[in-house]
Amino acid sequence: MGWSPEIHDILQATQEHEIEQRDLYDRPPSVFKPWTKGRVALLGDAIHAMMPNLGQGGCQAIEDASVIADKLEHISRRSEIEGVLSEYRDTRLTRSAAVQVRVITLTLTLTLILTLTLTLTLTLTLTRASPASRATSSSAASTRR
Ligand SMILES: Cc1cc2nc3c(=O)[nH]c(=O)nc-3n(C[C@H](O)[C@H](O)[C@H](O)COP(=O)(O)OP(=O)(O)OC[C@H]3O[C@@H](n4cnc5c(N)ncnc54)[C@H](O)[C@@H]3O)c2cc1C
Repeated sequence: MGWSPEIHDILQATQEHEIEQRDLYDRPPSVFKPWTKGRVALLGDAIHAMMPNLGQGGCQAIEDASVIADKLEHISRRSEIEGVLSEYRDTRLTRSAAVQVRVITLTLTLTLILTLTLTLTLTLTLTRASPASRATSSSAASTRR
């Protein structure tokens, strides 16, 4: 188990100054925002960015591209492009929004589990530490007397 040797090689070869911070952001489904304008359409992260927890962002971008390609294949005039791009948005909205909501739910659940685990660990640590600290302070008090 564990990472393959190639990954260890890359990690060891990476200099401190080469490491960059890339923040990740969750986005709500783009229900009210336009996906297309004229003959231009947004797809992938540009229209439904999501956290990588489910490994679905790239898959959703590929599904978008597949739907667009499929729809464009069946037209014969440029004037039809705008119409099929609107259809693309209607075809993809529910599916991509469902995946986004699943990712948001998973992120919130993991955050809740982590918070509960940390709170429980801290409470147990403090509870266990209390008798010892009480014993220490009472023995210090009896020494003073
Ligand atoms: C840590 C991590 C793990 C992931 N794991 C998975 C996984 O297991 N499975 C999965 O399906 N997805 C995964 N994803 C998500 C996936 O990488 C993205 O959802 C996917 O790459 C989105 O594709 P895209 O084409 O929409 O955008 P991008 O891949 O971001 O492509 C956009 C491109 O546009 C370029 N660009 C930006 N601005 C300009 C500009 N002004 N002019 C010209 N070019 C520009 C960028 O350089 C980039 O090359 C992961 C993401 C992260 C961060």
